[in-house]
Amino acid sequence: MRFEENFATRVSRLKASEIRELLKLLDQPGILSFAGGIPDPALFPTQAFGQAFTDALEGNAQALQYSVSEGYLPLREWIVSEMARNGVTCSVDNIMITSGSQQALDYLGKLFLSPGDTALVGWPTYLGSLAAFNAYEPAFDQLSINGNRAAEDHQSKAAAAGGQVKFAYLSADFANPTGETVDRQGREGVLQLADALDCAVIEDAAYQSLRYDGAPVPPILALEQAQKGSIEACRTIYCGSFSKTLSPGLRVGWVVAATPVIKQLVLMKQAADLHSATINQMAIHRVAEGGFDAHVAGVRDVYRRRRDAMLQALDRFMPKGVRWTKPEGGMFVWVTLPAELDGADLLARSLETEKVAFVPGRAFFADGSGGNSIRLSFSCADETMIAEGMARLGRLITAAKVG
Ligand code: PMP
Repeated sequence: MRFEENFATRVSRLKASEIRELLKLLDQPGILSFAGGIPDPALFPTQAFGQAFTDALEGNAQALQYSVSEGYLPLREWIVSEMARNGVTCSVDNIMITSGSQQALDYLGKLFLSPGDTALVGWPTYLGSLAAFNAYEPAFDQLSINGNRAAEDHQSKAAAAGGQVKFAYLSADFANPTGETVDRQGREGVLQLADALDCAVIEDAAYQSLRYDGAPVPPILALEQAQKGSIEACRTIYCGSFSKTLSPGLRVGWVVAATPVIKQLVLMKQAADLHSATINQMAIHRVAEGGFDAHVAGVRDVYRRRRDAMLQALDRFMPKGVRWTKPEGGMFVWVTLPAELDGADLLARSLETEKVAFVPGRAFFADGSGGNSIRLSFSCADETMIAEGMARLGRLITAAKVG
């Protein structure tokens, strides 16, 4: 059978993640990799999880049973209090557990986007958000944080693409790939734009707990709730995740939103995978209750030192004409190369000569621009490796500039 001829039209828009393809190349010996944006497994609370799984199973076959689509109630209760600490007042009815926040992005794409509708995303944005939304055949338009584009401008562009603006998606804290944070004014600007467009705001909070310095900025959902009172009046949909704090492999994340949104998401989850793994939710709940703050403080200490090492080494080794972000948290530094250099070419050269890996920036742009940028991740490299890697990268860029 010629399967390709029978695939749905949306399939033509799916493509293998450049990052996943790249990660396959990195098993070669001697490569110093700053490519994968994944947590350091040495920081996972393995012992606590060992105990939590044992306890969850002890005399309790329910841990292996089907469970409700909304998610494990004690975990949703824990999230209610965690959200309260971040300035959001909600109840368990405003929360659904997802299989990682990636699933939330897929469901939200499915919930809002008819073919031809517009999603506002950053230029650059999280690659996984483009992949998730793309399956629903949208158009992408650039979300400008500083309010330099009027709502009417977005509206007429969306109409020309055959639909309307359905949401603005952003990661306001230590974004992937830039590491940048949107300040309070920027967040309020996004809310204002969304009010004018009457569209949702999808707040991706995957890295929110990983702040190393500077004062926390309230989540967009908290700012909106401060304006409008009840969460039921809010257009912001908050996507949280335990992947960067406790474990990505257990695939546990959550959505906080007004109940009409949660109700639809629950129907989607019933249709897609019924519920996230029961025992994983129980284990996450036990480990979170047993000392979330202390564990995350330890994780932050390690990543803070790595972030510092990377910024120092970039200062020391990068030639003139190269710029980079100074993230206050997260896992990434975003490097802008001189305009004539291309990140993908540089990577090809690097794998041959200097054996340093990173992600070329273009993949993070919905319009394929951004060729002269690269993403560096500091989460899985120790300080010595970071210094050595940045020295090699500096040499590589200096040589590329010359010839
Ligand atoms: N959002 C962002 C910005 C991410 O970087 C990631 C993972 N790299 C995710 C969402 C998805 O994470 P998960 O599904 O593990 O919660």
